[in-house]
Amino acid sequence: MLLLALLLIASPDPTPICHGSYEQGALLTCRTLPGADVTLSDASGFEAQVKADEAGRFILGFSRDAAPNMTLRVCAPGNACASLPLAIVPHDYKIERIDGLPPGKVSSFTPAQLAHIRKSSARKKTAFAAKTISDAFLAGFSKPVENARISGFYGSQRVLNGEPKRPHMGMDFAVPTGTPIVAPAGGVVTLADPDLYFEGGTVFLDHGQGLVSVFMHMSALDVKDGQRVNKGEVLGRVGATGRATGAHLHWSLKWRNRYYVNPDAALELDLSPLR
Ligand SMILES: [Zn+2]
Repeated sequence: MLLLALLLIASPDPTPICHGSYEQGALLTCRTLPGADVTLSDASGFEAQVKADEAGRFILGFSRDAAPNMTLRVCAPGNACASLPLAIVPHDYKIERIDGLPPGKVSSFTPAQLAHIRKSSARKKTAFAAKTISDAFLAGFSKPVENARISGFYGSQRVLNGEPKRPHMGMDFAVPTGTPIVAPAGGVVTLADPDLYFEGGTVFLDHGQGLVSVFMHMSALDVKDGQRVNKGEVLGRVGATGRATGAHLHWSLKWRNRYYVNPDAALELDLSPLR
């Protein structure tokens, strides 16, 4: 009994403090003990593991279809654990219909197109698996293009040429071809490819904490693989390359190479507890 009491006094409490909205597609900024092991799970068997950094910081992302009840378990290096139930608010998604896409960008692909699709997806897979070290996220996120009409929303159910397709996992900014795209936060370029099949001219930017921005349909690229960029630096130009009906920037944000979160959540990220 005495030993147990001593252990309880000796183990620091790993209960995290988190800020943000508990909603599908959202992001939370959290702080706990340095190096703590964090597990986000739900009753269906979903599990995502994160390690808090040397300052005890971590960012949690919820998927588009996150379960209404999740569990956050945080264990300090000394084995003391804290378990928190999380109630996740559902997000109301839109239905977007896009017609007039070339059939070769929706279904029925030629062997050459299939080879291009396979090559593109291999490039993306490798880039998403790359882990770079960056604290760039600490300066927060701003929009990659200014004064744009938002023409596509995160999570929308997509119907392309009348065929129901996978949901739209990013945010579309309708701006003319040639508009400069700036880094919404600093980071390291993990992919810069002028010609992916569906995405067209594409840049991946790893901001640290497992947050990777993807910019698509670009008409020109101003950065290279491995390049470190600062917030606000020009990455390239808006275009209509890949599967696009008109000039726009598609920006998506992947969390821990698990799923896409709402870029809007990054723009609203409360980083004050992490600084
Ligand atoms: Zn889009």
